[in-house]
Amino acid sequence: MPKKTQTQVSDLEIASLKESALFSEKGKTKFSSRILVIGGSLTSEQLREIAKFASRYGDGTVHLTTRQGVEIPHIPYEKLPLFRKAIEKSSIKPAQSGKCVRAITACPGSYCKFGTIDTQQLAKEIFKRFGNRKNLPHKFKIAVSGCRHCCSKPQENDLGVMGVGKFAMFVGGMAGKTPRWGDRLPFDIKEKSKLFNIINAVITWYENNGNDKERFGVTIERLGLTRLLDTLKMFQ
Ligand code: SF4
Repeated sequence: MPKKTQTQVSDLEIASLKESALFSEKGKTKFSSRILVIGGSLTSEQLREIAKFASRYGDGTVHLTTRQGVEIPHIPYEKLPLFRKAIEKSSIKPAQSGKCVRAITACPGSYCKFGTIDTQQLAKEIFKRFGNRKNLPHKFKIAVSGCRHCCSKPQENDLGVMGVGKFAMFVGGMAGKTPRWGDRLPFDIKEKSKLFNIINAVITWYENNGNDKERFGVTIERLGLTRLLDTLKMFQ
């Protein structure tokens, strides 16, 4: 990457860096790097590396996002090439960015006394199976909660799984400027394999029916929940 003065970072380059989870800050001279976190859990080794990179390339601070993500802020543009090389060799990875399935959030239901499902394992499995779904109409957020307390807010995600002994599922939730509470599917799911099939069917339905830049909840509002439920009938 050629050396540039702070004001020479073009909008095109900013858009390209965003795809690598490097977000330009106010003034467009410094960047925040979003780190991939699944289920809100990191190893002590990953935490040490994040702390080291924050000191070496940022200003020594780390920001925790509302979706359990970790960001290393205030990295000057000139330091990005070295920062990216260091990340590549480390135990941490950049987060997903753009119109794709984002990091899966999850509560500690695996060991919380109220937990009815293994939330941490489920978050990892969901990410393994669907973390590669890209080119969707918009971002797609998934959250897993271990019980009805819903600490990870499954109803505020595009797709939410809530442990009720079995798996209950919510679709089309979102926060933001026009929040929408997710619709609970009229049936719960017993087997994990079926849960994965339904998640796949839901994402595919959105992929096929959503307009460009349209969040899943808006697609459901536009076409009607019944249209989606018709597709899912075979799983009941
Ligand atoms: S949602 Fe339930 S299982 Fe998960 S952390 Fe909250 S109380 Fe515990």
